[in-house]
Amino acid sequence: MPEPKPISLSTPLGEFRGVGPERAELLARLELRTVLHLLQHRPRRYEDRRQFKTIAELVKGEAATTHGKIVAMGVKRWKMGTRARFEFVLEDGTARLHCRWWNQIFMENYFHVGDAVLVFGKLIDDRPRTMDHPETEVLENGEEVMIHLNRVTPVYALTEGLPQRWLRGLMWRVLAAAEGLIVEPHPELAKELASWPTRAQALRSLHFPQELADAERARQRLALDELIELQVAIQRRRRNLESHGKALACGGDNRWIKPFLAKLGFTLTAAQTRVLRELRHDLAGAVPMRRLLQGDVGSGKTVVAACVALMALESGYDVAIMAPTEILAGQHFRRFEEWFGPLGIPVHLHTGAVKTAAAQGRGGQGGTVPASGPTTVGANAGMAPAAPASASAPALFVGTHALIEAGFAPDRLGLVVIDEQHKFGVVHREKLVRKGRYPHLLVMTATPIPRTLGLTMYGDLDISVLDQIPAGRGRIRTFVRTPDRLPKVWEFLRAKLAEGRQAYVVYPRVEEADDAAGIKAVTKEFEKLAAVFAPSRVGLLHGRLARDEQDRVMAAFRNGEVQVLLATAVVEVGVDVANATVMVIENANQFGLAQLHQLRGRVGRGAHESQCILVADATTSGAAQRLGILAATSDGFRIAEEDLKLRGPGELLGREQSGAPPLVFGDLATDLALVEQSRELAGKLVGAAG
Ligand code: ADP
Ligand code: MG
Repeated sequence: MPEPKPISLSTPLGEFRGVGPERAELLARLELRTVLHLLQHRPRRYEDRRQFKTIAELVKGEAATTHGKIVAMGVKRWKMGTRARFEFVLEDGTARLHCRWWNQIFMENYFHVGDAVLVFGKLIDDRPRTMDHPETEVLENGEEVMIHLNRVTPVYALTEGLPQRWLRGLMWRVLAAAEGLIVEPHPELAKELASWPTRAQALRSLHFPQELADAERARQRLALDELIELQVAIQRRRRNLESHGKALACGGDNRWIKPFLAKLGFTLTAAQTRVLRELRHDLAGAVPMRRLLQGDVGSGKTVVAACVALMALESGYDVAIMAPTEILAGQHFRRFEEWFGPLGIPVHLHTGAVKTAAAQGRGGQGGTVPASGPTTVGANAGMAPAAPASASAPALFVGTHALIEAGFAPDRLGLVVIDEQHKFGVVHREKLVRKGRYPHLLVMTATPIPRTLGLTMYGDLDISVLDQIPAGRGRIRTFVRTPDRLPKVWEFLRAKLAEGRQAYVVYPRVEEADDAAGIKAVTKEFEKLAAVFAPSRVGLLHGRLARDEQDRVMAAFRNGEVQVLLATAVVEVGVDVANATVMVIENANQFGLAQLHQLRGRVGRGAHESQCILVADATTSGAAQRLGILAATSDGFRIAEEDLKLRGPGELLGREQSGAPPLVFGDLATDLALVEQSRELAGKLVGAAG
């Protein structure tokens, strides 16, 4: 029977011969609905079926493919029939192989004595030779053998009830029928892509390569297409901004920056000065600023944010600074209040729980703060009503996610600064910026972003780098210790407390909405440490405490009433207490490397030498090796690269919404060359389109 005609890439798979409603349903479970979906179903792995191991050649502990005939099979039951095992014995003339499935007696229905079967699995025993739960394919004689055997064969992800062999057969037929329909997405790049297989060739080699290397080359070509699409979108967005966004003149006149810097108590590093020059150039330019400021922990991004905020404020515009946590927003608020208060600039806090009157007034909701409503905190709080007095003066708004919610929309928003971007997604960034008519945007991150991600996630941003840590910092030494050494660690801590230093002890608990067990564990740890360190005082900080309790604990730690802060990862970003010089991280292997680097960045902020002690059961070799990287380097970039390799882009950028693009063929951890090439090619496309 012929295949459906005419077909297109969007023809439903159900129209193909042999794909009934049931199979179509199973395919849909894998999101395979059309010809195009199927062709882009990337094989999970490949098997070189040109040479098989004989059963006698199988090596214990190694995964391999072999084949033979079933000479016996059956189900064995025990424990009153509650446990069962299906098993068949394969024989190929050299030896016998036992293949077993535990508690999957339905496997019995798929095989018959006399079947020729191909199995892929790990030999777990050689007396007798045994594999548990191998992947199998029943071989049939006939026309299809060339698809499944004597070649580099694709092996696909499946779903229960969908046979590997059937799917591969379908792939072969659909590919043959649709090959002629696959066109180059960008014919105008023909010259640039001359050394690559065509897209049609790439899809064929992806599924049925001549050699394994062809499959990888095909993947790269398809990845390139994917990355080009991504880059085109990024560059279009940028172009759009350049042609439609009219920049607000926010260069400032120095009237506030000068006194601010004079009273700061330190001089800016050369890197800070250079970056500020870049920022001022942007703020005074014709196109709204879209810039990423990358600077390792402790490089002094906050002061840079303050200066750039002052430029916009001097120009008469409001400024919003957004932080990822309430603690950090609170800290920024206090610091900016201290810095800007003397200059007469109103500073307002605007978080989920706290809104200043002015923030509401500006937000266009008018109205006063209801008595039972959010607390009013502001530079002017406690004085005359803040809103009317400051309504005409430019103000600084500090906040969390709440800033992007509907109520907040100052009409003269000139600059948005997003601190610690890796906790926000691209979506957040866009939303906040849309609040104003094209305010300038500065995104600050302490997570060094590997270049592949920099070019994709932040491809529409210009990049500035603070590559210098202010002088006069004590160094940080990092140690890895097993939990049995904890008593010694506590002893060391006590000595440091006696010298007048302070310490963080971080306890790994994800703060899910109802993580009662986690809170119990951390509370128990708190009681333990309170006893260990008495008479020094221990404070407890986690995201489920009431907000004013969090504030109280942070304040007590900041002013030295509390010497040890037991905290969850809420202290990860931004918290800045110079006298805290010891960071102990329990169960350190439960954190990502970049996150540990952030946590470590909480110490080493003053002149004293600091220590970071990673406590982990290093019995698993991976954990020891991972943590070893941290002990060996303080280079945030290297750490981020390692993290990207180990955990993938999503983890590096934060759990909730990594904003990382869903790539089927591309791999942001390894495809740097492709990312760079795609950027260049997209530039040609977008440029050509004008
Ligand atoms: P991060 O880049 O991690 O956000 P911060 O902005 O919190 O770093 O700065 C860390 C500490 O270094 C702060 O206490 C800040 O006041 C201080 N600092 C910033 N710039 C300088 C400088 N040029 N010289 C001395 N100390 C500085
Ligand atoms: Mg910071």
